[in-house]
Amino acid sequence: MTADISGKLTDFDAGITAIDTDYVRPRLAASHLVVDEGRAAFVDTGTTLSVPNLLAALAAKNVDPGDVDWVLTTHVHLDHAGGAGELMRQLPNARCAVHPRGARHLAEPSKLIAGSIAVYGEERYRALYGEIVPIDEQRMLVADDGERIRLGSRNLVLIHTPGHALHHYCVVDLDHDRIFSGDTFGISYRDFDVDGREFIFPTTTPVHFDPEALCNSVDRLMSYEPVAIYLTHYAEVRDLGRLSGEMKNRVRAFADLGRRHAQAPDRSLKLREGMFIMLSGWVDEHGWVGDVKQRHWLLDDDVELNCQGIEVWLDRQ
Ligand SMILES: [Zn+2]
Repeated sequence: MTADISGKLTDFDAGITAIDTDYVRPRLAASHLVVDEGRAAFVDTGTTLSVPNLLAALAAKNVDPGDVDWVLTTHVHLDHAGGAGELMRQLPNARCAVHPRGARHLAEPSKLIAGSIAVYGEERYRALYGEIVPIDEQRMLVADDGERIRLGSRNLVLIHTPGHALHHYCVVDLDHDRIFSGDTFGISYRDFDVDGREFIFPTTTPVHFDPEALCNSVDRLMSYEPVAIYLTHYAEVRDLGRLSGEMKNRVRAFADLGRRHAQAPDRSLKLREGMFIMLSGWVDEHGWVGDVKQRHWLLDDDVELNCQGIEVWLDRQ
């Protein structure tokens, strides 16, 4: 049953493993497993359809499901937290830590489901997410900003990081100077690595994108002086001085793109064209040589989601 999981696991130091959640394409979205003195936590879960991979990863690390203490859902977008309910059902002793603004959505997921159908359409929604299982509120830790929890010997702090979503927190591992950033520190697909150099860009998914808050959250993450950050899209990045600067510049560039086309009658089209050209230009500067077809394959879904989020932000002004 665990025979084919090894190709979906990436081991890092400090007891951290990225698990491919098999969402849309390989290495698009990760769940992170952290093991410390035989105790374990998952940071983000993928969808309900990802749960078999997560359980196989536990087996591969010789961790019993009863030894998982935490399911940490950085935010309640379904690509990352959709599987939390099903996963909790498989982990008898785990608690699920959730942002105060996300808790009721995990206890009663109908609004999340409706929101995702609005973004993806009914058919794609079913194929992507499967059945969403609610989580018993008794098993939740509703995490305030600065909430401290323990995993084995290590101390973790959950800090609220608005900008991508208002219900977003990041997990700071104080003992290893690492941060699990969910979507707050943007997207860095390994497909775009050039000689080990990482490429990064923001994710501005509906409905809470806020450029200023996002830049402030990036600064807050960097104030902990981490040596590595773990992104849901996808896993470890280390060149943090450069990447944090590029993230903030690119958040502002996306906001400027939105403002530039705010009044255009064909705003949606202009934004989508403009964002693809912008991303493709950054990819060029980065030295990546993939052709136009590969660029569309790797970027089109994010262009669509990002533009939807920017339009919601423009309409809120
Ligand atoms: Zn995401």
